[in-house]
Amino acid sequence: MTLPQSPLMGQMMNQPLLVSGIIEFAARHFGDSQIVSRRVEGDIHRYTYRDCHQRARRLANALHGMGVALGDRVATLAWNGYRHLEAYYAVSGSGAVLHTINPRLHPEQIAYIVNHAEDQVLLFDLTFLPAVEAMSAICKQVKHYVLMCDRDRMPAESKIPGLLCYEDLIASHSDDYEWPQFDENSACTLCYTSGTTGNPKGALYSHRSTVLHAYGSALPNALNVTSRDAVLPVVPMFHVNAWGLPYSVPLSGAKMVFPGAALDGKSLYDLFEAEQVTFSAGVPTVWLGLINFMLQNKLKFSSFRRTVIGGSACSPAMMNTLMDEFGVEVIHAWGMTEMSPLGTAGVLMGKHRELPQDEQRKILLKQGHAVYGVDMKIVDDDGKELPWDGSSYGHLLVKGPWVISAYYKDEGGDPLQNGWFPTGDVATIDADGYMQITDRSKDVIKSGGEWIGTIDLENIAVSHPAVMQAACIGIAHPKWDERPLLVIVRRPGMDVSREELLAFYEGKIAKWWLPDDVVFADALPLGGTGKVQKNKLREQYKEYKLPTA
Ligand code: ADP
Repeated sequence: MTLPQSPLMGQMMNQPLLVSGIIEFAARHFGDSQIVSRRVEGDIHRYTYRDCHQRARRLANALHGMGVALGDRVATLAWNGYRHLEAYYAVSGSGAVLHTINPRLHPEQIAYIVNHAEDQVLLFDLTFLPAVEAMSAICKQVKHYVLMCDRDRMPAESKIPGLLCYEDLIASHSDDYEWPQFDENSACTLCYTSGTTGNPKGALYSHRSTVLHAYGSALPNALNVTSRDAVLPVVPMFHVNAWGLPYSVPLSGAKMVFPGAALDGKSLYDLFEAEQVTFSAGVPTVWLGLINFMLQNKLKFSSFRRTVIGGSACSPAMMNTLMDEFGVEVIHAWGMTEMSPLGTAGVLMGKHRELPQDEQRKILLKQGHAVYGVDMKIVDDDGKELPWDGSSYGHLLVKGPWVISAYYKDEGGDPLQNGWFPTGDVATIDADGYMQITDRSKDVIKSGGEWIGTIDLENIAVSHPAVMQAACIGIAHPKWDERPLLVIVRRPGMDVSREELLAFYEGKIAKWWLPDDVVFADALPLGGTGKVQKNKLREQYKEYKLPTA
Protein backbone atom coordinates (compact mmCIF):
# COMPACT_ATOMS: atom_id res chain seq x y z
CA MET A 1 0.00 0.00 0.00
CA THR A 2 1.34 3.44 -0.85
CA LEU A 3 0.02 6.38 1.18
CA PRO A 4 -0.40 9.92 -0.22
CA GLN A 5 2.20 12.50 0.74
CA SER A 6 2.32 13.07 4.51
CA PRO A 7 0.98 16.41 5.77
CA LEU A 8 4.19 16.70 7.78
CA MET A 9 7.38 16.33 5.72
CA GLY A 10 10.88 15.96 7.19
CA GLN A 11 13.02 19.08 7.26
CA MET A 12 16.46 17.78 6.41
CA MET A 13 18.53 19.05 3.48
CA ASN A 14 17.48 17.35 0.30
CA GLN A 15 20.90 16.68 -1.15
CA PRO A 16 20.96 14.28 -4.10
CA LEU A 17 23.15 11.18 -3.66
CA LEU A 18 25.76 11.77 -6.40
CA VAL A 19 29.10 9.98 -6.75
CA SER A 20 30.93 13.32 -7.14
CA GLY A 21 30.16 13.81 -3.44
CA ILE A 22 32.32 10.77 -2.63
CA ILE A 23 35.54 12.06 -4.20
CA GLU A 24 34.83 15.54 -2.88
CA PHE A 25 34.48 14.11 0.62
CA ALA A 26 37.62 11.97 0.30
CA ALA A 27 39.66 14.96 -0.94
CA ARG A 28 38.41 17.23 1.86
CA HIS A 29 38.43 14.80 4.78
CA PHE A 30 41.08 12.24 3.84
CA GLY A 31 43.04 14.44 1.45
CA ASP A 32 46.43 12.90 2.27
CA SER A 33 45.36 9.24 1.98
CA GLN A 34 47.30 7.61 -0.80
CA ILE A 35 46.38 6.04 -4.09
CA VAL A 36 49.21 3.80 -5.31
CA SER A 37 49.15 2.29 -8.79
CA ARG A 38 51.32 -0.17 -10.63
CA ARG A 39 51.18 1.34 -14.09
CA VAL A 40 51.06 -0.46 -17.41
CA GLU A 41 54.46 1.22 -17.97
CA GLY A 42 55.74 -0.98 -15.08
CA ASP A 43 56.59 1.72 -12.53
CA ILE A 44 54.74 2.64 -9.34
CA HIS A 45 52.72 5.86 -9.29
CA ARG A 46 51.73 7.47 -6.01
CA TYR A 47 49.47 10.40 -5.21
CA THR A 48 46.59 11.38 -2.90
CA TYR A 49 42.80 11.71 -2.95
CA ARG A 50 43.36 15.46 -3.14
CA ASP A 51 45.41 15.02 -6.35
CA CYS A 52 42.85 12.60 -7.75
CA HIS A 53 40.03 15.05 -7.16
CA GLN A 54 41.98 17.82 -8.87
CA ARG A 55 42.77 15.74 -11.96
CA ALA A 56 39.20 14.41 -12.12
CA ARG A 57 37.99 18.02 -12.34
CA ARG A 58 40.47 18.73 -15.13
CA LEU A 59 39.18 15.67 -16.97
CA ALA A 60 35.59 16.80 -16.41
CA ASN A 61 36.48 20.10 -18.09
CA ALA A 62 38.13 18.20 -20.94
CA LEU A 63 35.03 16.04 -21.45
CA HIS A 64 32.89 19.16 -21.47
CA GLY A 65 35.21 20.55 -24.14
CA MET A 66 34.60 17.44 -26.25
CA GLY A 67 30.88 18.11 -26.12
CA VAL A 68 30.03 15.28 -23.69
CA ALA A 69 26.66 16.11 -22.18
CA LEU A 70 24.33 14.81 -19.45
CA GLY A 71 23.53 11.14 -20.09
CA ASP A 72 26.17 10.64 -22.85
CA ARG A 73 28.16 7.43 -22.59
CA VAL A 74 31.94 7.48 -22.13
CA ALA A 75 33.67 4.10 -22.22
CA THR A 76 36.85 2.80 -20.63
CA LEU A 77 39.02 -0.17 -21.58
CA ALA A 78 41.43 -0.07 -18.69
CA TRP A 79 43.09 -1.89 -15.81
CA ASN A 80 42.82 -0.87 -12.18
CA GLY A 81 44.78 2.36 -11.88
CA TYR A 82 44.64 6.02 -10.88
CA ARG A 83 43.64 7.30 -14.32
CA HIS A 84 40.75 4.88 -14.42
CA LEU A 85 39.65 6.17 -11.00
CA GLU A 86 39.82 9.75 -12.28
CA ALA A 87 37.55 8.71 -15.17
CA TYR A 88 35.11 7.07 -12.73
CA TYR A 89 34.57 10.42 -11.05
CA ALA A 90 35.03 12.83 -13.96
CA VAL A 91 32.60 11.02 -16.26
CA SER A 92 29.81 10.20 -13.81
CA GLY A 93 30.38 13.29 -11.68
CA SER A 94 29.86 15.56 -14.68
CA GLY A 95 26.55 13.82 -15.49
CA ALA A 96 27.75 11.52 -18.26
CA VAL A 97 27.64 7.72 -17.95
CA LEU A 98 30.78 5.66 -17.43
CA HIS A 99 30.70 2.46 -19.45
CA THR A 100 33.42 0.10 -18.23
CA ILE A 101 34.26 -2.54 -20.83
CA ASN A 102 35.77 -5.92 -20.03
CA PRO A 103 38.84 -6.13 -22.31
CA ARG A 104 38.87 -9.91 -22.00
CA LEU A 105 35.69 -10.17 -24.04
CA HIS A 106 35.95 -11.27 -27.63
CA PRO A 107 36.79 -8.21 -29.88
CA GLU A 108 33.48 -8.68 -31.72
CA GLN A 109 31.61 -8.55 -28.43
CA ILE A 110 33.51 -5.40 -27.44
CA ALA A 111 32.56 -3.71 -30.71
CA TYR A 112 28.98 -4.89 -30.21
CA ILE A 113 28.65 -3.29 -26.78
CA VAL A 114 30.47 -0.07 -27.78
CA ASN A 115 27.92 0.32 -30.57
CA HIS A 116 25.01 -0.80 -28.41
CA ALA A 117 25.92 1.68 -25.68
CA GLU A 118 26.52 4.38 -28.33
CA ASP A 119 29.73 5.39 -26.59
CA GLN A 120 30.97 8.81 -27.69
CA VAL A 121 34.39 8.76 -26.11
CA LEU A 122 36.66 5.79 -25.45
CA LEU A 123 39.45 6.07 -22.87
CA PHE A 124 41.89 3.17 -22.98
CA ASP A 125 45.16 1.83 -21.61
CA LEU A 126 48.25 1.29 -23.79
CA THR A 127 47.74 -2.49 -23.55
CA PHE A 128 44.62 -2.20 -25.66
CA LEU A 129 45.97 0.05 -28.45
CA PRO A 130 46.07 -2.78 -31.05
CA ALA A 131 42.54 -3.93 -30.12
CA VAL A 132 41.13 -0.41 -30.31
CA GLU A 133 42.90 0.22 -33.63
CA ALA A 134 41.28 -2.94 -34.98
CA MET A 135 37.77 -1.99 -33.90
CA SER A 136 37.77 1.79 -34.42
CA ALA A 137 36.59 1.42 -38.03
CA ILE A 138 33.40 -0.35 -36.96
CA CYS A 139 32.61 1.87 -33.96
CA LYS A 140 31.33 4.79 -35.99
CA GLN A 141 29.68 6.80 -33.24
CA VAL A 142 32.84 7.08 -31.10
CA LYS A 143 33.95 10.67 -31.66
CA HIS A 144 37.09 10.76 -29.51
CA TYR A 145 39.69 8.15 -28.61
CA VAL A 146 41.90 8.94 -25.63
CA LEU A 147 45.02 6.93 -24.86
CA MET A 148 45.64 6.90 -21.10
CA CYS A 149 49.39 7.46 -21.07
CA ASP A 150 52.16 10.06 -20.88
CA ARG A 151 53.01 12.06 -24.00
CA ASP A 152 56.28 10.19 -24.58
CA ARG A 153 54.41 6.87 -24.81
CA MET A 154 52.07 8.02 -27.57
CA PRO A 155 52.56 6.10 -30.85
CA ALA A 156 54.20 8.15 -33.62
CA GLU A 157 51.28 7.29 -35.85
CA SER A 158 48.07 5.37 -35.39
CA LYS A 159 45.16 4.09 -37.45
CA ILE A 160 42.88 5.89 -35.02
CA PRO A 161 42.02 9.32 -36.42
CA GLY A 162 42.65 12.19 -34.00
CA LEU A 163 43.96 9.96 -31.22
CA LEU A 164 44.28 12.07 -28.06
CA CYS A 165 46.77 11.81 -25.20
CA TYR A 166 45.19 11.66 -21.73
CA GLU A 167 48.00 13.59 -20.04
CA ASP A 168 47.81 16.34 -22.67
CA LEU A 169 44.11 16.68 -21.93
CA ILE A 170 44.70 16.89 -18.19
CA ALA A 171 47.51 19.42 -18.64
CA SER A 172 45.55 21.64 -20.99
CA HIS A 173 42.43 21.97 -18.85
CA SER A 174 41.81 23.86 -15.66
CA ASP A 175 40.75 22.26 -12.38
CA ASP A 176 38.27 25.08 -11.92
CA TYR A 177 35.18 22.92 -12.08
CA GLU A 178 32.19 22.65 -9.79
CA TRP A 179 30.44 19.30 -9.78
CA PRO A 180 26.94 19.85 -11.16
CA GLN A 181 23.87 18.86 -9.13
CA PHE A 182 21.20 16.77 -10.83
CA ASP A 183 18.62 14.08 -10.14
CA GLU A 184 20.19 11.25 -8.13
CA ASN A 185 18.24 8.74 -10.22
CA SER A 186 20.22 9.74 -13.32
CA ALA A 187 22.36 7.00 -14.89
CA CYS A 188 25.88 6.84 -13.46
CA THR A 189 27.62 3.76 -14.86
CA LEU A 190 26.86 1.03 -17.36
CA CYS A 191 28.10 -2.57 -17.12
CA TYR A 192 27.28 -5.39 -19.48
CA THR A 193 26.70 -8.93 -18.27
CA SER A 194 29.18 -11.38 -19.71
CA GLY A 195 26.54 -12.85 -22.01
CA THR A 196 27.35 -16.51 -21.74
CA THR A 197 24.19 -17.09 -23.74
CA GLY A 198 23.06 -14.53 -26.34
CA ASN A 199 24.29 -10.98 -26.55
CA PRO A 200 25.47 -9.13 -23.44
CA LYS A 201 22.84 -6.99 -21.72
CA GLY A 202 23.51 -3.66 -20.00
CA ALA A 203 22.90 -2.97 -16.31
CA LEU A 204 22.55 0.78 -15.87
CA TYR A 205 23.29 1.90 -12.31
CA SER A 206 22.06 5.23 -11.01
CA HIS A 207 23.96 7.67 -8.79
CA ARG A 208 21.54 6.86 -5.99
CA SER A 209 21.98 3.09 -6.33
CA THR A 210 25.76 3.46 -6.53
CA VAL A 211 26.04 5.67 -3.44
CA LEU A 212 23.68 3.45 -1.43
CA HIS A 213 25.65 0.37 -2.53
CA ALA A 214 28.87 2.09 -1.45
CA TYR A 215 27.42 2.81 2.00
CA GLY A 216 25.93 -0.67 2.35
CA SER A 217 28.96 -2.58 1.14
CA ALA A 218 31.36 -0.68 3.43
CA LEU A 219 29.42 -1.71 6.56
CA PRO A 220 31.18 -3.90 9.16
CA ASN A 221 28.84 -6.82 8.40
CA ALA A 222 29.79 -6.58 4.73
CA LEU A 223 33.26 -5.58 3.49
CA ASN A 224 34.12 -3.53 6.59
CA VAL A 225 36.26 -0.89 4.85
CA THR A 226 37.89 1.57 7.26
CA SER A 227 40.34 4.46 7.17
CA ARG A 228 42.90 2.09 8.80
CA ASP A 229 42.92 -0.16 5.75
CA ALA A 230 45.11 -0.33 2.68
CA VAL A 231 42.85 -1.89 0.07
CA LEU A 232 44.01 -3.68 -3.07
CA PRO A 233 41.11 -4.43 -5.41
CA VAL A 234 42.26 -7.38 -7.51
CA VAL A 235 38.76 -7.55 -8.93
CA PRO A 236 38.95 -5.37 -12.05
CA MET A 237 37.26 -1.99 -12.33
CA PHE A 238 35.62 -3.41 -15.47
CA HIS A 239 33.99 -6.23 -13.48
CA VAL A 240 30.87 -4.68 -11.91
CA ASN A 241 32.76 -1.55 -10.80
CA ALA A 242 35.31 -3.62 -8.88
CA TRP A 243 32.47 -4.59 -6.55
CA GLY A 244 31.97 -0.93 -5.62
CA LEU A 245 35.46 -0.49 -4.11
CA PRO A 246 36.26 2.63 -6.22
CA TYR A 247 33.45 4.25 -4.19
CA SER A 248 33.53 2.50 -0.80
CA VAL A 249 37.30 2.87 -0.37
CA PRO A 250 37.41 6.68 -0.93
CA LEU A 251 34.32 7.25 1.23
CA SER A 252 36.09 5.33 4.01
CA GLY A 253 39.33 7.25 3.52
CA ALA A 254 41.35 4.03 3.14
CA LYS A 255 44.59 3.83 1.17
CA MET A 256 43.96 2.44 -2.31
CA VAL A 257 46.45 0.16 -4.06
CA PHE A 258 45.88 -0.63 -7.74
CA PRO A 259 47.64 -3.63 -9.32
CA GLY A 260 47.36 -2.56 -12.99
CA ALA A 261 47.75 -5.39 -15.45
CA ALA A 262 50.10 -7.50 -13.31
CA LEU A 263 47.78 -10.06 -11.69
CA ASP A 264 50.21 -12.99 -11.45
CA GLY A 265 51.12 -14.42 -8.04
CA LYS A 266 54.56 -12.78 -7.78
CA SER A 267 53.49 -9.27 -8.82
CA LEU A 268 50.53 -9.35 -6.48
CA TYR A 269 52.55 -10.68 -3.56
CA ASP A 270 55.25 -8.01 -4.04
CA LEU A 271 52.64 -5.24 -4.09
CA PHE A 272 50.79 -6.61 -1.03
CA GLU A 273 54.05 -6.52 0.89
CA ALA A 274 55.49 -3.25 -0.43
CA GLU A 275 52.28 -1.30 0.25
CA GLN A 276 51.35 -3.19 3.44
CA VAL A 277 47.92 -4.10 2.10
CA THR A 278 45.41 -5.16 4.77
CA PHE A 279 42.33 -5.94 2.71
CA SER A 280 41.60 -7.21 -0.79
CA ALA A 281 38.87 -8.63 -3.02
CA GLY A 282 38.88 -11.01 -5.96
CA VAL A 283 37.49 -14.12 -7.64
CA PRO A 284 38.76 -17.59 -6.59
CA THR A 285 40.98 -18.03 -9.68
CA VAL A 286 43.24 -15.09 -8.74
CA TRP A 287 43.67 -16.40 -5.21
CA LEU A 288 44.59 -19.76 -6.67
CA GLY A 289 47.53 -18.14 -8.53
CA LEU A 290 48.67 -16.17 -5.49
CA ILE A 291 48.36 -19.10 -3.07
CA ASN A 292 50.30 -21.42 -5.39
CA PHE A 293 53.09 -18.88 -5.75
CA MET A 294 53.31 -18.38 -1.98
CA LEU A 295 53.25 -22.10 -1.16
CA GLN A 296 55.93 -22.83 -3.76
CA ASN A 297 58.16 -20.08 -2.39
CA LYS A 298 57.31 -20.63 1.30
CA LEU A 299 56.14 -17.04 1.74
CA LYS A 300 53.86 -15.41 4.34
CA PHE A 301 51.99 -12.10 4.42
CA SER A 302 53.14 -9.45 6.89
CA SER A 303 50.08 -7.16 6.79
CA PHE A 304 47.28 -8.80 4.79
CA ARG A 305 44.46 -9.79 7.16
CA ARG A 306 41.13 -9.91 5.34
CA THR A 307 39.79 -10.66 1.89
CA VAL A 308 36.48 -10.86 0.08
CA ILE A 309 36.06 -13.79 -2.30
CA GLY A 310 33.11 -13.96 -4.67
CA GLY A 311 32.08 -14.23 -8.29
CA SER A 312 32.14 -18.01 -8.01
CA ALA A 313 32.14 -20.29 -5.00
CA CYS A 314 35.09 -20.21 -2.60
CA SER A 315 35.94 -23.87 -1.88
CA PRO A 316 36.60 -25.10 1.67
CA ALA A 317 40.14 -25.95 0.54
CA MET A 318 40.80 -22.34 -0.47
CA MET A 319 39.21 -20.88 2.65
CA ASN A 320 41.17 -23.23 4.92
CA THR A 321 44.49 -22.45 3.22
CA LEU A 322 43.96 -18.69 3.41
CA MET A 323 42.76 -18.75 7.01
CA ASP A 324 44.99 -21.45 8.50
CA GLU A 325 48.21 -21.15 6.46
CA PHE A 326 48.21 -17.40 5.87
CA GLY A 327 46.04 -15.95 8.67
CA VAL A 328 43.75 -14.17 6.22
CA GLU A 329 40.10 -13.89 7.21
CA VAL A 330 37.88 -14.81 4.25
CA ILE A 331 34.57 -13.05 3.66
CA HIS A 332 32.64 -15.15 1.19
CA ALA A 333 30.34 -12.86 -0.78
CA TRP A 334 27.77 -13.34 -3.48
CA GLY A 335 26.33 -10.95 -6.00
CA MET A 336 25.88 -10.29 -9.66
CA THR A 337 26.14 -7.59 -12.30
CA GLU A 338 22.41 -6.97 -11.96
CA MET A 339 22.91 -6.25 -8.23
CA SER A 340 25.70 -3.63 -8.38
CA PRO A 341 26.95 -6.42 -7.35
CA LEU A 342 26.77 -7.09 -3.61
CA GLY A 343 23.93 -9.22 -2.24
CA THR A 344 25.30 -11.23 0.66
CA ALA A 345 28.48 -11.41 2.73
CA GLY A 346 29.52 -14.10 5.19
CA VAL A 347 30.49 -12.95 8.66
CA LEU A 348 29.59 -14.65 11.96
CA MET A 349 27.03 -13.45 14.47
CA GLY A 350 27.69 -13.06 18.20
CA LYS A 351 25.96 -16.33 18.96
CA HIS A 352 28.39 -18.22 16.71
CA ARG A 353 31.43 -17.12 18.71
CA GLU A 354 31.42 -20.17 21.01
CA LEU A 355 31.00 -22.71 18.21
CA PRO A 356 33.92 -25.06 17.43
CA GLN A 357 36.04 -23.90 14.51
CA ASP A 358 34.73 -26.45 12.03
CA GLU A 359 31.13 -25.40 12.76
CA GLN A 360 32.08 -21.75 12.24
CA ARG A 361 33.75 -22.66 8.93
CA LYS A 362 30.54 -24.31 7.72
CA ILE A 363 28.72 -21.01 8.22
CA LEU A 364 31.50 -18.95 6.64
CA LEU A 365 31.53 -21.23 3.59
CA LYS A 366 27.94 -20.33 2.78
CA GLN A 367 27.57 -17.33 0.45
CA GLY A 368 26.52 -15.20 3.40
CA HIS A 369 23.92 -13.06 5.01
CA ALA A 370 21.91 -10.37 3.20
CA VAL A 371 23.40 -6.89 3.42
CA TYR A 372 20.87 -4.23 4.40
CA GLY A 373 19.60 -2.91 1.07
CA VAL A 374 18.97 -6.39 -0.33
CA ASP A 375 16.05 -8.67 0.46
CA MET A 376 15.94 -12.24 -0.81
CA LYS A 377 13.73 -15.30 -0.91
CA ILE A 378 13.72 -18.78 -2.42
CA VAL A 379 10.74 -20.11 -4.37
CA ASP A 380 9.74 -23.38 -6.04
CA ASP A 381 8.95 -23.77 -9.76
CA ASP A 382 5.43 -22.37 -9.14
CA GLY A 383 6.76 -19.28 -7.39
CA LYS A 384 5.73 -20.45 -3.90
CA GLU A 385 8.09 -19.25 -1.18
CA LEU A 386 10.16 -22.01 0.46
CA PRO A 387 11.11 -22.19 4.15
CA TRP A 388 14.40 -20.88 5.57
CA ASP A 389 15.53 -24.24 6.97
CA GLY A 390 18.94 -24.61 5.35
CA SER A 391 17.85 -27.61 3.29
CA SER A 392 14.91 -26.58 1.08
CA TYR A 393 16.38 -25.27 -2.13
CA GLY A 394 14.78 -23.20 -4.85
CA HIS A 395 15.15 -20.26 -7.21
CA LEU A 396 16.74 -17.28 -5.51
CA LEU A 397 14.95 -13.93 -5.98
CA VAL A 398 16.12 -10.52 -4.77
CA LYS A 399 14.99 -6.94 -4.51
CA GLY A 400 16.36 -3.66 -3.27
CA PRO A 401 17.42 -0.16 -4.30
CA TRP A 402 20.61 -1.40 -6.01
CA VAL A 403 18.95 -4.32 -7.84
CA ILE A 404 18.15 -3.97 -11.55
CA SER A 405 14.58 -3.12 -12.63
CA ALA A 406 15.14 -3.29 -16.42
CA TYR A 407 18.08 -3.87 -18.76
CA TYR A 408 19.50 -0.97 -20.76
CA LYS A 409 17.26 -0.16 -23.75
CA ASP A 410 14.74 -2.62 -22.22
CA GLU A 411 16.61 -5.50 -23.82
CA GLY A 412 14.93 -8.81 -23.04
CA GLY A 413 11.70 -7.23 -21.74
CA ASP A 414 10.66 -7.01 -18.10
CA PRO A 415 13.09 -9.12 -16.05
CA LEU A 416 11.07 -8.95 -12.81
CA GLN A 417 8.61 -11.46 -11.31
CA ASN A 418 6.09 -9.64 -9.10
CA GLY A 419 8.65 -6.99 -8.22
CA TRP A 420 11.48 -9.48 -7.53
CA PHE A 421 14.53 -10.13 -9.71
CA PRO A 422 15.17 -13.83 -10.43
CA THR A 423 18.91 -14.34 -10.06
CA GLY A 424 19.17 -17.60 -12.00
CA ASP A 425 20.79 -19.18 -8.94
CA VAL A 426 19.47 -22.08 -6.90
CA ALA A 427 19.98 -21.72 -3.16
CA THR A 428 19.04 -22.60 0.40
CA ILE A 429 18.56 -20.08 3.23
CA ASP A 430 18.99 -21.20 6.84
CA ALA A 431 17.06 -20.05 9.91
CA ASP A 432 19.67 -17.35 10.64
CA GLY A 433 19.35 -15.95 7.11
CA TYR A 434 22.61 -17.38 5.67
CA MET A 435 22.18 -18.19 2.00
CA GLN A 436 24.03 -20.97 0.25
CA ILE A 437 24.20 -21.33 -3.52
CA THR A 438 23.64 -24.89 -4.68
CA ASP A 439 24.22 -24.01 -8.28
CA ARG A 440 23.26 -21.80 -11.18
CA SER A 441 19.96 -23.10 -12.46
CA LYS A 442 21.51 -23.65 -15.89
CA ASP A 443 24.40 -25.67 -14.43
CA VAL A 444 22.44 -27.83 -12.01
CA ILE A 445 22.39 -31.52 -13.04
CA LYS A 446 18.93 -32.99 -13.35
CA SER A 447 19.08 -36.68 -12.56
CA GLY A 448 15.91 -38.78 -12.36
CA GLY A 449 13.74 -35.76 -11.55
CA GLU A 450 16.09 -34.67 -8.71
CA TRP A 451 18.77 -31.98 -8.74
CA ILE A 452 22.47 -32.48 -8.17
CA GLY A 453 24.35 -29.30 -7.21
CA THR A 454 27.73 -29.11 -8.89
CA ILE A 455 29.37 -26.71 -6.42
CA ASP A 456 29.40 -29.39 -3.68
CA LEU A 457 30.90 -31.97 -6.03
CA GLU A 458 33.61 -29.52 -7.15
CA ASN A 459 34.42 -28.44 -3.59
CA ILE A 460 35.03 -32.05 -2.57
CA ALA A 461 37.25 -32.67 -5.61
CA VAL A 462 39.48 -29.63 -4.93
CA SER A 463 39.95 -30.72 -1.33
CA HIS A 464 41.97 -33.66 -2.74
CA PRO A 465 45.67 -32.69 -2.51
CA ALA A 466 46.39 -33.61 -6.15
CA VAL A 467 43.51 -31.59 -7.62
CA MET A 468 44.04 -27.97 -8.63
CA GLN A 469 40.72 -27.24 -10.36
CA ALA A 470 37.48 -29.14 -10.87
CA ALA A 471 34.29 -28.61 -12.82
CA CYS A 472 31.26 -30.82 -12.89
CA ILE A 473 28.83 -30.92 -15.79
CA GLY A 474 25.71 -32.90 -16.69
CA ILE A 475 26.02 -35.43 -19.52
CA ALA A 476 22.90 -36.73 -21.26
CA HIS A 477 21.85 -40.12 -19.94
CA PRO A 478 19.19 -42.44 -21.45
CA LYS A 479 17.70 -43.43 -18.10
CA TRP A 480 18.38 -40.53 -15.72
CA ASP A 481 18.25 -37.55 -18.17
CA GLU A 482 21.65 -36.33 -16.96
CA ARG A 483 24.50 -37.68 -14.90
CA PRO A 484 27.56 -35.84 -13.53
CA LEU A 485 30.92 -35.90 -15.27
CA LEU A 486 33.87 -34.53 -13.32
CA VAL A 487 36.56 -32.63 -15.24
CA ILE A 488 39.80 -32.35 -13.31
CA VAL A 489 43.01 -30.33 -13.65
CA ARG A 490 45.75 -31.97 -11.58
CA ARG A 491 48.36 -30.02 -9.61
CA PRO A 492 51.66 -29.86 -11.49
CA GLY A 493 53.77 -32.90 -10.67
CA MET A 494 50.98 -34.73 -8.84
CA ASP A 495 48.90 -37.67 -9.86
CA VAL A 496 45.54 -39.15 -8.95
CA SER A 497 43.48 -41.77 -10.78
CA ARG A 498 39.80 -41.84 -11.67
CA GLU A 499 39.22 -44.65 -9.15
CA GLU A 500 41.02 -42.84 -6.34
CA LEU A 501 38.97 -39.70 -6.94
CA LEU A 502 35.66 -41.52 -6.99
CA ALA A 503 36.61 -43.36 -3.79
CA PHE A 504 37.44 -39.95 -2.25
CA TYR A 505 33.71 -39.07 -2.40
CA GLU A 506 32.70 -42.03 -0.25
CA GLY A 507 30.83 -40.96 2.87
CA LYS A 508 30.87 -37.31 1.76
CA ILE A 509 27.76 -37.29 -0.45
CA ALA A 510 24.59 -39.27 -1.16
CA LYS A 511 25.49 -42.27 -3.34
CA TRP A 512 23.39 -41.13 -6.29
CA TRP A 513 25.36 -37.85 -6.47
CA LEU A 514 28.61 -39.71 -7.21
CA PRO A 515 29.98 -38.60 -10.62
CA ASP A 516 29.62 -41.32 -13.26
CA ASP A 517 33.06 -40.62 -14.64
CA VAL A 518 36.20 -38.49 -14.34
CA VAL A 519 38.21 -36.94 -17.17
CA PHE A 520 41.53 -35.14 -16.87
CA ALA A 521 42.22 -31.86 -18.68
CA ASP A 522 45.22 -29.51 -18.93
CA ALA A 523 43.09 -26.44 -18.19
CA LEU A 524 39.47 -25.36 -17.80
CA PRO A 525 37.97 -22.75 -20.13
CA LEU A 526 37.74 -19.45 -18.20
CA GLY A 527 35.52 -16.50 -19.13
CA GLY A 528 36.31 -12.79 -19.04
CA THR A 529 35.74 -12.56 -15.29
CA GLY A 530 37.78 -15.64 -14.38
CA LYS A 531 34.88 -18.09 -14.08
CA VAL A 532 34.80 -21.58 -15.51
CA GLN A 533 32.71 -21.53 -18.69
CA LYS A 534 30.51 -24.55 -18.18
CA ASN A 535 28.66 -23.98 -21.45
CA LYS A 536 32.00 -24.44 -23.27
CA LEU A 537 32.73 -27.60 -21.28
CA ARG A 538 29.27 -28.99 -22.03
CA GLU A 539 29.88 -28.29 -25.71
CA GLN A 540 33.31 -29.95 -25.54
CA TYR A 541 31.94 -33.12 -23.90
CA LYS A 542 28.64 -33.17 -25.80
CA GLU A 543 29.39 -36.53 -27.38
CA TYR A 544 30.98 -38.01 -24.27
CA LYS A 545 29.80 -41.53 -23.50
CA LEU A 546 29.50 -42.28 -19.81
CA PRO A 547 30.45 -45.82 -18.77
CA THR A 548 27.42 -48.06 -18.42
CA ALA A 549 27.05 -49.53 -14.95
P1 ADP B 1 27.86 -13.33 -15.22
O1 ADP B 1 26.58 -13.85 -14.62
O2 ADP B 1 27.59 -12.54 -16.43
O3 ADP B 1 28.95 -14.35 -15.30
P2 ADP B 1 28.24 -11.94 -12.79
O4 ADP B 1 29.55 -11.50 -12.31
O5 ADP B 1 27.11 -11.05 -12.69
O6 ADP B 1 28.46 -12.28 -14.25
O7 ADP B 1 27.91 -13.35 -12.14
C1 ADP B 1 26.91 -13.53 -11.20
C2 ADP B 1 26.80 -14.98 -10.86
O8 ADP B 1 28.02 -15.49 -10.35
C3 ADP B 1 25.79 -15.28 -9.77
O9 ADP B 1 24.48 -15.30 -10.26
C4 ADP B 1 26.27 -16.63 -9.27
O10 ADP B 1 25.83 -17.67 -10.10
C5 ADP B 1 27.76 -16.53 -9.42
N1 ADP B 1 28.37 -16.20 -8.12
C6 ADP B 1 28.74 -15.00 -7.67
N2 ADP B 1 29.29 -15.09 -6.45
C7 ADP B 1 29.25 -16.40 -6.11
C8 ADP B 1 29.66 -17.16 -4.96
N3 ADP B 1 30.24 -16.60 -3.92
N4 ADP B 1 29.44 -18.49 -4.98
C9 ADP B 1 28.87 -19.11 -6.03
N5 ADP B 1 28.48 -18.45 -7.14
C10 ADP B 1 28.66 -17.11 -7.17
